[in-house]
Amino acid sequence: MVIEKRLIKLFQKLFGKKSKSQKSNVKLEKPKTESKAKKPKINSTRIGELGEYKINIQLDQLPKDSRYLSDVLIPNSRAKSGYSQIDHVIFTSRAIFVVETKNYAGTIYGDRNREKWSVNGKFPMMNPFHQNYGHVQALKSILSLEEDSNIVSIVSFTRRCTFKVNEELRKVQSNDLIVYDTELSEYINRKMNVLRVQSNSPIFSDEDISRMHSILSEKNIKDPNIRKEHIEALKQKKHKETSAVQSTNAKCYICNVTVSKKVESFCKANHNRFSGKVYCYEHQRG
Ligand SMILES: [Zn+2]
Repeated sequence: MVIEKRLIKLFQKLFGKKSKSQKSNVKLEKPKTESKAKKPKINSTRIGELGEYKINIQLDQLPKDSRYLSDVLIPNSRAKSGYSQIDHVIFTSRAIFVVETKNYAGTIYGDRNREKWSVNGKFPMMNPFHQNYGHVQALKSILSLEEDSNIVSIVSFTRRCTFKVNEELRKVQSNDLIVYDTELSEYINRKMNVLRVQSNSPIFSDEDISRMHSILSEKNIKDPNIRKEHIEALKQKKHKETSAVQSTNAKCYICNVTVSKKVESFCKANHNRFSGKVYCYEHQRG
């Protein structure tokens, strides 16, 4: 008897709970529709095309006689900002590797000869080889290099990406290469092997390498004020909308740009739409 009564109580409890949760489900739908109405205006400026975030390359895996410099800022009269910021320059006996790093997530659709590439077929990005060409030209000018010097342009993406690009860009014979950050030293070593087969003697001697390295280190702008200004100018250009707002450490899942506290809270509050991830204005469209 006592047990029966307990069971009945238990069933009642369960029943009671069930109807309660059904109620709260109904309640939950209201804010959902409200939040839909509060969708922010889509910002059409190309916020997503940025993100030259630094990667940690396995620098100890580079050829022994090579030397490198990272995060190089040099004057470039042809650039709008007046400067070129190069992620990595690697001097070897066979070639100079100029590396641009990207921090997008998604499928990268690109054609070597087209100006516009895209992420996921939706979000436009500038052809990164056009951008890196500017860096190469600035470097040639600073180091007084011949027009036909052996310079290899590499664009490095993280493993969060899938490439849908010209097959040639993945072949080590090319002087334009698209790689994953984890493949960078492998590609450089393979490229060196190809160049060794093509020519017996090295193009750059140890003296050449250290001379170029020291010229570039000397020309590399270290003044923290100029650096800060340059980074601020890029930020202004990249996210006009968000720069005025207090920023946090939250970053867009697609392009890794830092977003404002407001954007972060908006995305977190709309869990159904964004699955707990944070997106910049541009990439909230996805
Ligand atoms: Zn984004």
